[in-house]
Amino acid sequence: MRISRFLSSFFLAAVMGASLMTGLHADAKKVVLIAGPPSHGVLQHEHKAGCMLIEYCLKDIEGVDVQVHTGGWPNDPKALDGADAVIIFCTGGDRHLAIQEGRLEQLQKVMDNGAGFGCLHYGVEVPKDKGGAEFLQWMGGYFETHWSVNPHWTAEFKTFPDHPIANGVKPFAVNDEWYFHMRFPEGMKGVTPILSAVAPEKTMERQDGPHSGNPAVREAVAKGLPQHVAWAFERPNGGRGFGFTGLHNHLNWRNPDFRKTILNAVLWLAHAEVPEHGVDVALTDAQILTNLDQKRGKSPIDILRETQKQQPFISPVQGVK
Ligand SMILES: [Zn+2]
Repeated sequence: MRISRFLSSFFLAAVMGASLMTGLHADAKKVVLIAGPPSHGVLQHEHKAGCMLIEYCLKDIEGVDVQVHTGGWPNDPKALDGADAVIIFCTGGDRHLAIQEGRLEQLQKVMDNGAGFGCLHYGVEVPKDKGGAEFLQWMGGYFETHWSVNPHWTAEFKTFPDHPIANGVKPFAVNDEWYFHMRFPEGMKGVTPILSAVAPEKTMERQDGPHSGNPAVREAVAKGLPQHVAWAFERPNGGRGFGFTGLHNHLNWRNPDFRKTILNAVLWLAHAEVPEHGVDVALTDAQILTNLDQKRGKSPIDILRETQKQQPFISPVQGVK
């Protein structure tokens, strides 16, 4: 009895020592990133590569364990167990990964435990009658058809709120398919807009439709009201939400303030500490062009070179032969 107790405490000490050495703590924040299957053209909606960039950028943050699942919903039924944050980057609408086969119920259990919930780009859209209420409750906003819109435009972000997600983020401008006029809770209760910009008139050039325009958004744009394209949310149970509508264009990972906003948000969602100046990780173009989905079309490098000519605010091509 004594010997076995001695042995077990010895074993426990050894395990604790080993986990301290590797930086893995039992209380590490578990962040689950779910990347949907391939979609859209080359360097667009790069679910897998985007999630793997997040994993790469956070690998040296102590006390955070990022687990990436690619190709769709994780097969392991325990993948979400004990999650401190779940982030989904996938095709939305009827095909959204979260609304298939009892997954809303699976997520509800995780959310009831106070886990954070975040969605990127098309992942912020679910049908109003299937997932809409849940996304509003978990994330504090979502893309509602016939209310929200999805034009491509250059958003200029000039000021930021006093919020950990904005730590170290400096003014920047990026062209993306920035969805806006999201469906938010009544009176924006619990919501802190993180990235806001005035949408130019040309975002309203298309006719009305589920994603292209409606009287309410036209009125808001005509008034010049700032549109929120990334936001933070705090639920009454302490759980957190984050919505980010950009990331149609994978090359926007090149912009350090764009990626800092996302990386800070992942930490914040999981109740991990966001560094005072935000998460600063340099990325080469070679890294950004790694893990891309196989798609037909132009080569990613050609697209990158053309983008550089069109968008002078994006840093020069580097690290790619
Ligand atoms: Zn898109």
